[in-house]
Amino acid sequence: ERRSAVSVTDCFEYALRLFQTRLQETGVRVERRFPASPVWVNADPVRLEQVLVNLIGNALQAMAGCDNQQLTLRVEADSARVRLMVEDNGPGIPPEQLTRIFEPFFTTKSPGSGLGLGLSISSRIIDDLGGRLGAENLPAGGARFTILLPQEHLTP
Ligand code: ADP
Ligand code: MG
Repeated sequence: ERRSAVSVTDCFEYALRLFQTRLQETGVRVERRFPASPVWVNADPVRLEQVLVNLIGNALQAMAGCDNQQLTLRVEADSARVRLMVEDNGPGIPPEQLTRIFEPFFTTKSPGSGLGLGLSISSRIIDDLGGRLGAENLPAGGARFTILLPQEHLTP
């Protein structure tokens, strides 16, 4: 593991790039709600990207077949903490599954399309950074996953 100061918006862009073709083919709209100035966390960029790829992949799978598919990526920072959010407007998560989705091998996908490991591994990666990964349903429908991490303040 190689930790360094990582720009969270750069991390989002690298993760998104992997889905570029799929996004174009499926016509998913991507909405970025990023702050004007860069926000940093102390992390292994490869691992943080892996988490974002997991969350974006899940969001795209959840929205498949829906009308007006929209992926919303948010970065919010206060003085001490950073929130990275991945939102979709798919069917959301059944309330009784909201805690179980983080368990290893929990999946609602057919064999071959999901192992049920993405969220448990992602949650572990974020815990190791002193953060937290959470899930909620949005009032307008769809799901939001939030990565909460300590903010890294770069001194110029
Ligand atoms: P997998 O994607 O292999 O099923 P994950 O650990 O990534 O495993 O996700 C576990 C389960 O959480 C999924 O099978 C799905 O039921 C639920 N889930 C994850 N992301 C979303 C989402 N954006 N919308 C609805 N359900 C979701
Ligand atoms: Mg997954």
